[in-house]
Amino acid sequence: MLDDVVLAGVRVLGGPPSDVELRGGRITAVRAAGTSGAALTRVAGTGLVMLPALVDLHTHLREPGDEEAETIASGTRAAAAGGYSDVFAMANCSPVTDSPGRVRHIAETAARTASCRVHPVGAITLRLEGQDLAPLTAMADAGARMFSDDGRCVDDPAILLDALTTSRAAGTVIAQHAQCGSLAPSGQINAGPAADRTGLPPWPAVAEETIVARDVVFAGATGARLHICHVSTAGTVEILRCAKQRGWPVTAEVTPHHLLLTDEQAAAGDTIHKVNPPLRSAADVVALRAALLDGTIDAVATDHAPHPARRKGTGWCDAAFGMLGLETALAVVAEVLGEGGEPDWSLIADAMSHRPARIGGIDAIAGRPLTPGEPATFTLVDPNANWTVDPTEHQSLSANTPFAHFRFRHRVVATVVESRVTADHCGLLAAPGSAALRDAPPRHRANGARDHLSYPGRNC
Ligand SMILES: [Zn+2]
Repeated sequence: MLDDVVLAGVRVLGGPPSDVELRGGRITAVRAAGTSGAALTRVAGTGLVMLPALVDLHTHLREPGDEEAETIASGTRAAAAGGYSDVFAMANCSPVTDSPGRVRHIAETAARTASCRVHPVGAITLRLEGQDLAPLTAMADAGARMFSDDGRCVDDPAILLDALTTSRAAGTVIAQHAQCGSLAPSGQINAGPAADRTGLPPWPAVAEETIVARDVVFAGATGARLHICHVSTAGTVEILRCAKQRGWPVTAEVTPHHLLLTDEQAAAGDTIHKVNPPLRSAADVVALRAALLDGTIDAVATDHAPHPARRKGTGWCDAAFGMLGLETALAVVAEVLGEGGEPDWSLIADAMSHRPARIGGIDAIAGRPLTPGEPATFTLVDPNANWTVDPTEHQSLSANTPFAHFRFRHRVVATVVESRVTADHCGLLAAPGSAALRDAPPRHRANGARDHLSYPGRNC
Protein backbone atom coordinates (compact mmCIF):
# COMPACT_ATOMS: atom_id res chain seq x y z
CA MET A 1 0.00 0.00 0.00
CA LEU A 2 1.09 3.51 -0.77
CA ASP A 3 0.28 5.33 2.42
CA ASP A 4 1.44 8.34 4.41
CA VAL A 5 3.21 9.48 1.29
CA VAL A 6 3.51 12.73 -0.56
CA LEU A 7 3.93 12.63 -4.32
CA ALA A 8 6.16 15.65 -4.74
CA GLY A 9 6.08 17.86 -7.80
CA VAL A 10 3.48 16.00 -9.85
CA ARG A 11 1.35 17.94 -12.33
CA VAL A 12 -2.30 17.11 -11.64
CA LEU A 13 -4.06 17.00 -15.05
CA GLY A 14 -0.98 18.71 -16.50
CA GLY A 15 -1.31 21.75 -14.20
CA PRO A 16 1.41 23.41 -12.11
CA PRO A 17 3.72 21.23 -9.95
CA SER A 18 1.95 20.09 -6.79
CA ASP A 19 2.53 17.94 -3.75
CA VAL A 20 -0.25 15.35 -3.45
CA GLU A 21 -0.62 13.79 -0.01
CA LEU A 22 -1.97 10.25 0.35
CA ARG A 23 -3.24 8.75 3.61
CA GLY A 24 -5.58 5.89 4.38
CA GLY A 25 -6.18 5.05 0.73
CA ARG A 26 -7.27 8.58 -0.10
CA ILE A 27 -5.95 11.86 -1.39
CA THR A 28 -5.82 14.07 1.70
CA ALA A 29 -4.31 17.26 0.30
CA VAL A 30 -3.11 18.86 -2.93
CA ARG A 31 -0.69 21.71 -2.22
CA ALA A 32 1.72 23.88 -4.17
CA ALA A 33 4.97 22.00 -4.74
CA GLY A 34 7.38 22.23 -1.81
CA THR A 35 4.78 23.10 0.82
CA SER A 36 3.71 19.65 2.05
CA GLY A 37 4.30 18.34 5.56
CA ALA A 38 7.73 16.97 6.44
CA ALA A 39 6.33 13.97 8.35
CA LEU A 40 5.36 12.09 5.21
CA THR A 41 7.53 9.89 3.01
CA ARG A 42 8.35 11.86 -0.11
CA VAL A 43 8.26 10.28 -3.56
CA ALA A 44 9.93 12.39 -6.23
CA GLY A 45 7.43 12.74 -9.04
CA THR A 46 8.76 15.96 -10.49
CA GLY A 47 7.27 16.64 -13.88
CA LEU A 48 5.08 13.56 -14.01
CA VAL A 49 1.49 14.15 -15.07
CA MET A 50 -1.11 12.75 -12.67
CA LEU A 51 -4.36 11.54 -14.20
CA PRO A 52 -7.33 9.70 -12.73
CA ALA A 53 -6.68 6.01 -13.44
CA LEU A 54 -8.11 5.02 -16.81
CA VAL A 55 -11.34 3.11 -17.48
CA ASP A 56 -11.71 0.88 -20.54
CA LEU A 57 -15.23 0.17 -21.75
CA HIS A 58 -14.09 -2.40 -24.28
CA THR A 59 -11.64 -5.16 -23.36
CA HIS A 60 -11.50 -8.76 -24.56
CA LEU A 61 -9.94 -10.77 -21.74
CA ARG A 62 -10.55 -14.11 -23.56
CA GLU A 63 -11.14 -16.08 -20.34
CA PRO A 64 -12.93 -18.43 -20.22
CA GLY A 65 -12.30 -20.32 -23.44
CA ASP A 66 -9.28 -18.78 -25.15
CA GLU A 67 -6.59 -18.69 -22.49
CA GLU A 68 -3.94 -19.18 -25.15
CA ALA A 69 -4.60 -15.58 -26.25
CA GLU A 70 -5.15 -13.93 -22.86
CA THR A 71 -6.38 -14.61 -19.34
CA ILE A 72 -8.09 -12.40 -16.82
CA ALA A 73 -4.76 -12.31 -14.96
CA SER A 74 -2.60 -11.38 -17.96
CA GLY A 75 -5.11 -9.00 -19.53
CA THR A 76 -5.56 -7.07 -16.32
CA ARG A 77 -1.79 -6.91 -15.81
CA ALA A 78 -1.71 -5.33 -19.26
CA ALA A 79 -4.48 -2.97 -18.18
CA ALA A 80 -2.63 -1.93 -15.04
CA ALA A 81 0.57 -1.44 -17.04
CA GLY A 82 -1.38 0.82 -19.40
CA GLY A 83 -2.76 2.97 -16.60
CA TYR A 84 -6.17 1.36 -16.13
CA SER A 85 -7.99 0.82 -12.85
CA ASP A 86 -11.11 -0.66 -14.45
CA VAL A 87 -11.95 -2.66 -17.54
CA PHE A 88 -15.22 -3.91 -18.97
CA ALA A 89 -14.77 -7.53 -20.07
CA MET A 90 -16.66 -8.24 -23.28
CA ALA A 91 -19.05 -11.19 -23.35
CA ASN A 92 -17.72 -13.09 -26.39
CA CYS A 93 -15.93 -15.71 -24.30
CA SER A 94 -16.51 -19.44 -24.52
CA PRO A 95 -18.95 -20.04 -22.98
CA VAL A 96 -20.53 -16.66 -23.69
CA THR A 97 -21.30 -14.44 -20.69
CA ASP A 98 -25.06 -14.70 -21.16
CA SER A 99 -26.37 -15.70 -17.73
CA PRO A 100 -26.15 -14.44 -14.15
CA GLY A 101 -23.97 -17.44 -13.32
CA ARG A 102 -21.51 -16.51 -16.07
CA VAL A 103 -21.41 -12.89 -14.90
CA ARG A 104 -20.65 -14.05 -11.36
CA HIS A 105 -18.03 -16.50 -12.62
CA ILE A 106 -16.08 -13.71 -14.38
CA ALA A 107 -16.33 -11.49 -11.32
CA GLU A 108 -15.22 -14.27 -8.97
CA THR A 109 -12.27 -15.24 -11.18
CA ALA A 110 -11.24 -11.60 -11.38
CA ALA A 111 -11.46 -11.23 -7.61
CA ARG A 112 -8.87 -14.00 -7.31
CA THR A 113 -6.54 -13.21 -10.20
CA ALA A 114 -6.96 -9.69 -11.58
CA SER A 115 -4.63 -6.71 -11.29
CA CYS A 116 -7.45 -4.23 -11.85
CA ARG A 117 -11.20 -4.14 -11.31
CA VAL A 118 -13.11 -6.16 -13.89
CA HIS A 119 -16.72 -5.43 -14.85
CA PRO A 120 -18.34 -8.30 -16.77
CA VAL A 121 -20.34 -7.26 -19.82
CA GLY A 122 -23.40 -9.44 -20.37
CA ALA A 123 -24.42 -10.62 -23.83
CA ILE A 124 -27.53 -9.04 -25.37
CA THR A 125 -28.63 -12.29 -27.00
CA LEU A 126 -28.14 -15.90 -25.93
CA ARG A 127 -24.83 -17.32 -27.25
CA LEU A 128 -24.45 -14.08 -29.29
CA GLU A 129 -26.71 -15.66 -31.87
CA GLY A 130 -28.92 -12.61 -32.33
CA GLN A 131 -32.10 -14.67 -31.90
CA ASP A 132 -33.21 -14.71 -28.27
CA LEU A 133 -32.78 -11.99 -25.70
CA ALA A 134 -30.44 -12.99 -22.86
CA PRO A 135 -31.72 -12.52 -19.28
CA LEU A 136 -30.57 -8.90 -19.00
CA THR A 137 -32.41 -8.09 -15.78
CA ALA A 138 -31.05 -11.14 -13.97
CA MET A 139 -27.54 -10.37 -15.23
CA ALA A 140 -27.92 -6.77 -14.05
CA ASP A 141 -28.89 -8.14 -10.63
CA ALA A 142 -25.69 -10.22 -10.74
CA GLY A 143 -23.61 -7.09 -11.36
CA ALA A 144 -23.54 -6.44 -15.11
CA ARG A 145 -23.73 -2.73 -15.91
CA MET A 146 -23.44 -3.02 -19.69
CA PHE A 147 -24.69 -5.44 -22.35
CA SER A 148 -23.15 -6.13 -25.75
CA ASP A 149 -22.91 -8.82 -28.40
CA ASP A 150 -19.62 -7.20 -29.43
CA GLY A 151 -17.88 -9.08 -32.19
CA ARG A 152 -21.32 -9.36 -33.70
CA CYS A 153 -24.03 -6.80 -34.40
CA VAL A 154 -27.54 -7.15 -33.06
CA ASP A 155 -29.04 -6.97 -36.54
CA ASP A 156 -32.69 -7.68 -35.73
CA PRO A 157 -34.37 -4.33 -34.92
CA ALA A 158 -37.10 -5.95 -32.80
CA ILE A 159 -34.55 -7.66 -30.58
CA LEU A 160 -32.47 -4.51 -30.23
CA LEU A 161 -35.58 -2.53 -29.29
CA ASP A 162 -36.53 -5.18 -26.73
CA ALA A 163 -32.98 -5.06 -25.31
CA LEU A 164 -33.07 -1.26 -25.02
CA THR A 165 -36.40 -1.28 -23.20
CA THR A 166 -35.26 -3.98 -20.79
CA SER A 167 -31.92 -2.28 -20.24
CA ARG A 168 -33.59 1.03 -19.47
CA ALA A 169 -35.66 -0.56 -16.73
CA ALA A 170 -32.50 -2.12 -15.25
CA GLY A 171 -30.60 1.17 -15.36
CA THR A 172 -27.91 -0.27 -17.65
CA VAL A 173 -26.54 0.51 -21.11
CA ILE A 174 -26.64 -1.34 -24.44
CA ALA A 175 -23.36 -1.27 -26.41
CA GLN A 176 -23.79 -1.98 -30.10
CA HIS A 177 -21.15 -3.34 -32.49
CA ALA A 178 -22.57 -1.62 -35.57
CA GLN A 179 -22.06 -3.85 -38.61
CA CYS A 180 -25.03 -4.55 -40.86
CA GLY A 181 -24.83 -8.25 -41.60
CA SER A 182 -26.17 -8.05 -45.13
CA LEU A 183 -24.06 -5.04 -46.16
CA ALA A 184 -20.74 -6.38 -44.84
CA PRO A 185 -21.21 -10.14 -44.58
CA SER A 186 -17.57 -10.93 -45.22
CA GLY A 187 -15.85 -7.53 -45.28
CA GLN A 188 -12.09 -7.65 -44.89
CA ILE A 189 -10.83 -4.14 -45.55
CA ASN A 190 -12.20 -0.62 -45.93
CA ALA A 191 -14.23 -0.21 -49.11
CA GLY A 192 -12.66 2.17 -51.59
CA PRO A 193 -9.09 2.39 -52.89
CA ALA A 194 -7.76 -0.07 -50.26
CA ALA A 195 -10.23 -2.77 -51.28
CA ASP A 196 -9.83 -1.95 -54.98
CA ARG A 197 -6.07 -2.23 -54.81
CA THR A 198 -5.93 -5.44 -52.78
CA GLY A 199 -8.96 -7.17 -54.25
CA LEU A 200 -10.10 -8.04 -50.72
CA PRO A 201 -13.84 -8.07 -49.92
CA PRO A 202 -14.87 -4.51 -49.01
CA TRP A 203 -16.30 -3.42 -45.65
CA PRO A 204 -18.23 -0.24 -46.55
CA ALA A 205 -18.80 2.70 -44.20
CA VAL A 206 -22.56 2.48 -44.74
CA ALA A 207 -22.59 -0.97 -43.12
CA GLU A 208 -21.73 0.82 -39.87
CA GLU A 209 -23.68 4.00 -40.46
CA THR A 210 -27.05 2.41 -41.28
CA ILE A 211 -27.03 0.49 -37.98
CA VAL A 212 -25.98 3.56 -36.00
CA ALA A 213 -28.68 5.68 -37.68
CA ARG A 214 -31.33 3.06 -36.90
CA ASP A 215 -30.25 2.54 -33.32
CA VAL A 216 -29.96 6.19 -32.28
CA VAL A 217 -33.59 6.55 -33.38
CA PHE A 218 -34.46 3.68 -31.05
CA ALA A 219 -32.58 5.38 -28.21
CA GLY A 220 -34.49 8.58 -28.86
CA ALA A 221 -37.80 6.74 -28.95
CA THR A 222 -37.25 4.64 -25.83
CA GLY A 223 -35.09 6.94 -23.70
CA ALA A 224 -32.80 3.95 -23.19
CA ARG A 225 -29.05 4.51 -23.04
CA LEU A 226 -27.25 3.35 -26.18
CA HIS A 227 -23.48 3.24 -26.58
CA ILE A 228 -21.85 2.84 -30.00
CA CYS A 229 -18.67 0.74 -29.94
CA HIS A 230 -15.54 1.64 -31.94
CA VAL A 231 -16.87 4.38 -34.23
CA SER A 232 -14.81 4.32 -37.42
CA THR A 233 -16.36 6.62 -40.05
CA ALA A 234 -17.00 10.31 -40.62
CA GLY A 235 -20.60 9.47 -41.48
CA THR A 236 -21.16 7.87 -38.08
CA VAL A 237 -19.80 11.02 -36.46
CA GLU A 238 -22.40 13.10 -38.32
CA ILE A 239 -25.21 10.78 -37.18
CA LEU A 240 -24.01 10.98 -33.57
CA ARG A 241 -23.83 14.77 -33.76
CA CYS A 242 -27.40 14.86 -35.00
CA ALA A 243 -28.60 12.47 -32.26
CA LYS A 244 -26.87 14.46 -29.53
CA GLN A 245 -28.34 17.73 -30.80
CA ARG A 246 -31.73 16.14 -30.29
CA GLY A 247 -30.83 15.17 -26.75
CA TRP A 248 -31.05 11.44 -27.38
CA PRO A 249 -29.26 9.28 -24.77
CA VAL A 250 -26.44 8.16 -27.04
CA THR A 251 -22.72 7.85 -26.27
CA ALA A 252 -19.85 6.60 -28.39
CA GLU A 253 -16.27 5.43 -28.24
CA VAL A 254 -13.32 5.46 -30.62
CA THR A 255 -10.25 3.23 -30.45
CA PRO A 256 -6.68 4.52 -30.37
CA HIS A 257 -5.90 2.64 -33.58
CA HIS A 258 -8.72 4.31 -35.49
CA LEU A 259 -7.34 7.67 -34.35
CA LEU A 260 -3.85 7.01 -35.71
CA LEU A 261 -3.79 4.37 -38.46
CA THR A 262 -5.44 4.32 -41.90
CA ASP A 263 -6.44 1.83 -44.56
CA GLU A 264 -3.19 2.66 -46.36
CA GLN A 265 -1.41 0.60 -43.70
CA ALA A 266 -3.95 -2.21 -44.05
CA ALA A 267 -3.56 -2.25 -47.84
CA ALA A 268 0.12 -3.12 -47.39
CA GLY A 269 -1.09 -6.59 -46.40
CA ASP A 270 0.31 -7.22 -42.91
CA THR A 271 -2.45 -8.99 -40.96
CA ILE A 272 -1.45 -7.05 -37.84
CA HIS A 273 -3.63 -4.31 -39.38
CA LYS A 274 -6.70 -6.52 -39.80
CA VAL A 275 -9.33 -5.27 -37.39
CA ASN A 276 -13.10 -4.93 -37.10
CA PRO A 277 -14.24 -2.31 -37.96
CA PRO A 278 -11.44 -1.88 -40.47
CA LEU A 279 -8.92 0.92 -40.49
CA ARG A 280 -10.53 3.70 -42.52
CA SER A 281 -9.43 6.59 -44.72
CA ALA A 282 -7.33 9.56 -43.67
CA ALA A 283 -10.46 11.74 -43.95
CA ASP A 284 -12.26 9.46 -41.48
CA VAL A 285 -9.32 9.74 -39.06
CA VAL A 286 -9.53 13.54 -39.23
CA ALA A 287 -13.28 13.40 -38.49
CA LEU A 288 -12.78 11.00 -35.55
CA ARG A 289 -10.13 13.23 -33.98
CA ALA A 290 -12.37 16.29 -34.35
CA ALA A 291 -15.29 14.39 -32.83
CA LEU A 292 -13.22 13.38 -29.81
CA LEU A 293 -12.06 16.97 -29.35
CA ASP A 294 -15.59 18.43 -29.54
CA GLY A 295 -17.22 15.70 -27.42
CA THR A 296 -19.33 14.13 -30.17
CA ILE A 297 -17.36 10.98 -29.37
CA ASP A 298 -17.39 10.65 -25.60
CA ALA A 299 -14.67 8.14 -24.85
CA VAL A 300 -11.60 6.29 -26.00
CA ALA A 301 -11.90 2.52 -25.61
CA THR A 302 -9.21 0.08 -26.60
CA ASP A 303 -11.06 -2.91 -28.12
CA HIS A 304 -8.01 -4.81 -26.78
CA ALA A 305 -8.27 -8.02 -28.82
CA PRO A 306 -5.41 -10.46 -28.16
CA HIS A 307 -4.64 -13.27 -30.59
CA PRO A 308 -1.80 -15.79 -30.57
CA ALA A 309 0.66 -15.50 -33.45
CA ARG A 310 -0.74 -18.52 -35.26
CA ARG A 311 -4.07 -16.74 -35.76
CA LYS A 312 -2.37 -13.72 -37.34
CA GLY A 313 0.36 -15.54 -39.25
CA THR A 314 -1.93 -16.63 -42.09
CA GLY A 315 -3.22 -15.18 -45.31
CA TRP A 316 -5.29 -12.02 -44.85
CA CYS A 317 -8.73 -13.60 -45.20
CA ASP A 318 -7.92 -16.39 -42.72
CA ALA A 319 -6.39 -14.09 -40.10
CA ALA A 320 -8.30 -13.10 -36.99
CA PHE A 321 -9.67 -9.57 -36.61
CA GLY A 322 -8.24 -7.49 -33.78
CA MET A 323 -5.24 -5.87 -32.17
CA LEU A 324 -3.89 -5.18 -28.69
CA GLY A 325 -4.60 -1.83 -27.10
CA LEU A 326 -4.31 -1.59 -23.33
CA GLU A 327 -0.56 -1.01 -23.01
CA THR A 328 -0.27 1.66 -25.70
CA ALA A 329 -3.61 3.51 -25.54
CA LEU A 330 -2.52 6.48 -23.45
CA ALA A 331 0.61 7.01 -25.53
CA VAL A 332 -1.33 6.91 -28.80
CA VAL A 333 -4.09 9.23 -27.62
CA ALA A 334 -1.64 11.74 -26.11
CA GLU A 335 0.34 11.69 -29.36
CA VAL A 336 -2.74 12.22 -31.51
CA LEU A 337 -4.27 14.97 -29.37
CA GLY A 338 -0.94 16.65 -28.63
CA GLU A 339 0.14 16.68 -32.28
CA GLY A 340 3.77 16.48 -31.18
CA GLY A 341 3.34 18.86 -28.24
CA GLU A 342 1.54 18.64 -24.92
CA PRO A 343 -2.02 17.37 -25.15
CA ASP A 344 -4.99 18.72 -23.20
CA TRP A 345 -4.68 16.39 -20.20
CA SER A 346 -8.11 17.37 -18.87
CA LEU A 347 -9.62 16.20 -22.13
CA ILE A 348 -7.71 12.93 -21.91
CA ALA A 349 -8.95 12.46 -18.34
CA ASP A 350 -12.49 13.07 -19.57
CA ALA A 351 -12.25 10.71 -22.54
CA MET A 352 -10.31 7.90 -20.87
CA SER A 353 -11.54 8.02 -17.27
CA HIS A 354 -14.41 10.30 -16.18
CA ARG A 355 -16.79 9.71 -19.10
CA PRO A 356 -16.24 5.95 -19.53
CA ALA A 357 -16.82 5.52 -15.80
CA ARG A 358 -20.13 7.36 -16.13
CA ILE A 359 -21.16 5.46 -19.25
CA GLY A 360 -20.40 2.16 -17.55
CA GLY A 361 -22.22 3.15 -14.35
CA ILE A 362 -19.16 2.81 -12.12
CA ASP A 363 -18.51 6.50 -11.48
CA ALA A 364 -19.00 6.05 -7.74
CA ILE A 365 -15.67 4.21 -7.60
CA ALA A 366 -13.80 5.02 -10.83
CA GLY A 367 -12.98 8.12 -12.84
CA ARG A 368 -13.12 10.22 -9.68
CA PRO A 369 -11.63 13.72 -9.46
CA LEU A 370 -8.09 14.10 -8.06
CA THR A 371 -9.16 16.16 -5.08
CA PRO A 372 -8.95 15.75 -1.28
CA GLY A 373 -11.29 13.09 0.07
CA GLU A 374 -11.28 11.06 -3.15
CA PRO A 375 -9.72 7.58 -3.47
CA ALA A 376 -5.98 7.43 -4.21
CA THR A 377 -6.67 5.94 -7.66
CA PHE A 378 -4.49 7.49 -10.33
CA THR A 379 -2.02 7.06 -13.14
CA LEU A 380 1.33 8.78 -13.47
CA VAL A 381 2.52 9.67 -16.97
CA ASP A 382 5.99 10.66 -18.07
CA PRO A 383 5.35 13.40 -20.67
CA ASN A 384 8.89 13.15 -22.05
CA ALA A 385 9.58 9.42 -22.06
CA ASN A 386 10.33 9.15 -25.79
CA TRP A 387 10.02 5.38 -25.67
CA THR A 388 9.83 2.68 -28.28
CA VAL A 389 7.09 0.04 -28.06
CA ASP A 390 8.59 -3.41 -27.53
CA PRO A 391 5.93 -6.16 -27.51
CA THR A 392 8.32 -8.50 -25.69
CA GLU A 393 7.92 -6.21 -22.66
CA HIS A 394 4.12 -6.36 -22.81
CA GLN A 395 2.15 -8.02 -20.04
CA SER A 396 -0.37 -9.45 -22.51
CA LEU A 397 0.04 -13.09 -23.47
CA SER A 398 -0.30 -12.03 -27.10
CA ALA A 399 1.85 -9.69 -29.15
CA ASN A 400 -0.48 -8.48 -31.92
CA THR A 401 0.13 -4.77 -31.49
CA PRO A 402 0.23 -2.59 -34.60
CA PHE A 403 2.48 -0.19 -32.70
CA ALA A 404 5.57 -2.36 -32.32
CA HIS A 405 8.67 -0.19 -32.77
CA PHE A 406 6.57 3.01 -32.80
CA ARG A 407 8.22 5.76 -30.84
CA PHE A 408 5.95 7.72 -28.50
CA ARG A 409 6.60 10.74 -26.35
CA HIS A 410 4.27 9.96 -23.42
CA ARG A 411 4.29 6.84 -21.28
CA VAL A 412 2.39 5.52 -18.29
CA VAL A 413 4.93 4.84 -15.53
CA ALA A 414 2.72 3.83 -12.60
CA THR A 415 -0.85 2.97 -11.71
CA VAL A 416 -2.36 3.08 -8.24
CA VAL A 417 -5.82 1.86 -7.24
CA GLU A 418 -7.02 2.90 -3.77
CA SER A 419 -3.37 3.20 -2.69
CA ARG A 420 -2.46 -0.23 -4.04
CA VAL A 421 0.34 -0.03 -6.58
CA THR A 422 -0.75 -2.13 -9.57
CA ALA A 423 1.99 -1.09 -11.99
CA ASP A 424 5.31 0.61 -11.39
CA HIS A 425 7.49 0.37 -14.46
CA CYS A 426 10.40 2.20 -12.95
CA GLY A 427 10.34 1.40 -9.26
CA LEU A 428 9.27 5.00 -8.72
CA LEU A 429 6.84 4.15 -5.94
CA ALA A 430 9.09 1.65 -4.19
CA ALA A 431 10.56 4.49 -2.17
CA PRO A 432 12.10 3.94 1.24
CA GLY A 433 9.30 3.54 3.72
CA SER A 434 6.88 2.34 1.07
CA ALA A 435 5.92 -1.31 0.81
CA ALA A 436 4.26 -0.65 -2.51
CA LEU A 437 5.79 -3.33 -4.68
CA ARG A 438 5.19 -6.14 -2.25
CA ASP A 439 1.68 -6.23 -3.66
CA ALA A 440 2.67 -6.15 -7.33
CA PRO A 441 2.92 -9.23 -9.55
CA PRO A 442 6.55 -10.33 -10.00
CA ARG A 443 6.55 -9.81 -13.76
CA HIS A 444 5.99 -6.09 -13.27
CA ARG A 445 9.20 -5.87 -11.34
CA ALA A 446 11.07 -7.83 -13.98
CA ASN A 447 9.76 -5.49 -16.65
CA GLY A 448 10.57 -2.44 -14.61
CA ALA A 449 14.17 -3.54 -14.45
CA ARG A 450 14.36 -3.45 -18.24
CA ASP A 451 12.88 0.00 -18.49
CA HIS A 452 14.75 2.96 -19.87
CA LEU A 453 13.05 5.78 -18.02
CA SER A 454 14.86 8.01 -15.64
CA TYR A 455 13.74 10.61 -13.18
CA PRO A 456 15.41 13.26 -11.07
CA GLY A 457 17.34 11.42 -8.41
CA ARG A 458 16.40 8.01 -9.74
CA ASN A 459 18.06 5.95 -12.38
CA CYS A 460 16.19 2.96 -13.75
ZN1 LIG B 1 -16.71 -4.87 -31.84
